[in-house]
Amino acid sequence: MPPRPVTETVTSPPRIGYSLDAKLPGVVGDRTASALKRAFGMITVADLLTHYPRRYARRGELTALAKLPLGEDVTIIAEVREVRERPMRQRRGSLLEVSITDGEGFLTLTWFNQKWRADQLRPGTRGIFAGKVTEYRGKVQLAHPDYHLLDDLQLAGGGKDLKEWAESPIPIYPATSTVASWQIQKAMEVVLDGIGEIPDPVPAEVRAEHGLLSLTEAFELIHRPEKDSEWRRARDALRFQEAFVLQTALLAQRAAAHSEPATPRAPKPGGLLERFDAALPFELTGDQKAVGADIERDLGSDAAMMRLLQGEVGSGKTLVAVRAMLAVADSGGQSALLAPTEVLATQHLRSIARVLGPDLSAQLMPTLLTGQMSTAERKKALLRIVTGQARIVVGTHALLSESVQFYDLGFVVVDEQHRFGVEQRDTLRRKGATPPHVLVMTATPIPRTVAMTVFGDLDVSVISELPAGRQGIQSVAVPIVEKPAWGTRIWERVHEELELGRQAFVVCPAIDASGSAEEDADVEEPPEGSAPPARATVLDTAEQLRKLPVLSSARIEVLHGRMSGDEKDAVMRAFAAGEIDVLVATTVIEVGVDVPNASVMVVLDADRFGVSQLHQLRGRVGRGGVPGLCLLVTTAEQGTTARERVEAVAETLDGFALAETDLELRREGDVLGSTQSGARSSLRLLRVVKDADVISDARAAAGPLVDADPTLAAHPALAAALERRLAETEREFLAKT
Ligand code: ADP
Ligand code: MG
Repeated sequence: MPPRPVTETVTSPPRIGYSLDAKLPGVVGDRTASALKRAFGMITVADLLTHYPRRYARRGELTALAKLPLGEDVTIIAEVREVRERPMRQRRGSLLEVSITDGEGFLTLTWFNQKWRADQLRPGTRGIFAGKVTEYRGKVQLAHPDYHLLDDLQLAGGGKDLKEWAESPIPIYPATSTVASWQIQKAMEVVLDGIGEIPDPVPAEVRAEHGLLSLTEAFELIHRPEKDSEWRRARDALRFQEAFVLQTALLAQRAAAHSEPATPRAPKPGGLLERFDAALPFELTGDQKAVGADIERDLGSDAAMMRLLQGEVGSGKTLVAVRAMLAVADSGGQSALLAPTEVLATQHLRSIARVLGPDLSAQLMPTLLTGQMSTAERKKALLRIVTGQARIVVGTHALLSESVQFYDLGFVVVDEQHRFGVEQRDTLRRKGATPPHVLVMTATPIPRTVAMTVFGDLDVSVISELPAGRQGIQSVAVPIVEKPAWGTRIWERVHEELELGRQAFVVCPAIDASGSAEEDADVEEPPEGSAPPARATVLDTAEQLRKLPVLSSARIEVLHGRMSGDEKDAVMRAFAAGEIDVLVATTVIEVGVDVPNASVMVVLDADRFGVSQLHQLRGRVGRGGVPGLCLLVTTAEQGTTARERVEAVAETLDGFALAETDLELRREGDVLGSTQSGARSSLRLLRVVKDADVISDARAAAGPLVDADPTLAAHPALAAALERRLAETEREFLAKT
């Protein structure tokens, strides 16, 4: 391995080399290329170069031969003592056995069918030998070791290089049974030797400011480091580059959306919004005011708003959205609220009508549109929407259908973005004459950097302050296996709440034993480490609860996604009116259900739900003036991930902390749902939580660049990197279909 001064790529004039987009066959040869394609789907030089080492092995300290650790990679300096070649006993071929010594102990090196090595490894030759220590028939050996003979090394530069070689990290690549790590390393050598100067997507000023290596240097040093410090610097630079390209892509997307002219929608002095505010029975929280001002400013501009509103359940997001709708109505425009389920759409409509009060409701005509409406109802709704009579429209996916036409759609609110794809959001946006302003609301607390990554094309507002007078929620994990007595205590506790005139939710992960998935709201895939498949079901649980003496006087009903919209609606209405005491339900009650009198929630098989899902569910209680209680019942054993998740939820009410826990407990890929941003495939080194700082830095650096040059005309290398990202996402997508 000849010495390579690190500065070489900087000082030497740019060489003509392969481009990152060059196809591998022309570079590494057809056979290697097709092996790489089959094993890893690699097509271009960039694909290979971004196949980073999983770790670096150490040739390590020189080790005395007498006590070599079995199974470990070692490096030793030794002298060849004896070379023997003999035919194999069991199969064809020959075995080359080379005995080496440190002067005291002996060690055997073996190679199959590599007789030619006998010419190099003559007795008396000294060298450095690296490989894994194995034992074969009681004899310690290195099979197929890597070696460099001292003579070679001395020719190459003397004792210093010897030490460097012994200490240089060996890249270990993600490999398959068909393509070994060292084969990848070899292909990498070929590419790196021929590639020359690579155009860097990160501008030189940005690199200089952050003290980062160029892409050329970084590729070189991540694959061929001589010291640990080299691959570390390389990794930092590449990580930044990933973040930078991603953030540029998101910001460019945002810039493109903003560049479409939108119609400004400002509230009128003395208009609807002012009337609404004057009648509001409470004071807006500080956060509601601040976010309201952000939104008002955005709505009044001729660039379309693209804003994400994050806030805990009950923090008053819906109220903020309604105020924005009123500002839009003041300018004559219509607003549409897109909800993920029938139940939620209905709920939203009802609570919007309630906060508006009779006068404003009559004027704005909030109108529901869902898939389950009768033809007559639907016709009526469509008419109100197309004539512009309905200034506020609330609906499910049905709103996206082609038959829905607006008179003047100015504003779209999407509730719970995580259930809608970007395309769906866009379909709705296209229903406006000019692109409507968009507000995405989510109660799922997303760590800031995830928001930056997943929703990076949106501006982010956060409501973290809860309205005054909230009583809080007490959460308790109930490990039913260890404490069976709690099995009865749970229902006594529910009974106590009912005695106080309050109501209860009981949440189950399934509707019935048929195991069919919840149609309306999906229970999360059971993450690794979950309990066995027996699950509490809505129908069984309701039946059992009805038989419990302690609940004998309770009115118990069920709610789940297999009921018709009318049935669900009737049940929700009855529960809200206090005509039902215990509602046994699936996650259809997850978001937005607002029954302030409900004070207790029992979640059965709580480990079946995701962390954020549990957090959302729990937000259904403790919404009014009464304190909430949430019992998270689990059969998961102590120490399992399933149990940890439940305990994490019980321990804190801080949704952001939980979101971080959630991320730690599950795979990164689940967070960056591929439909959201296509970001998953291009994130190789970047970890959205761990690398929060890198992501913020990259976004800060990308911002001014995109502002000054939204089409990246002056940054061809960056534009090309964005293209590659897109191409990769597309390929990934095609591979899946
Ligand atoms: P979210 O949509 O964030 O879950 P909502 O807007 O539905 O929250 O508000 C939850 C409840 O709190 C509603 O009943 C709403 O009327 C009430 N609310 C909203 N803002 C305030 C406030 N500033 N002070 C008191 N109550 C409020
Ligand atoms: Mg709400």
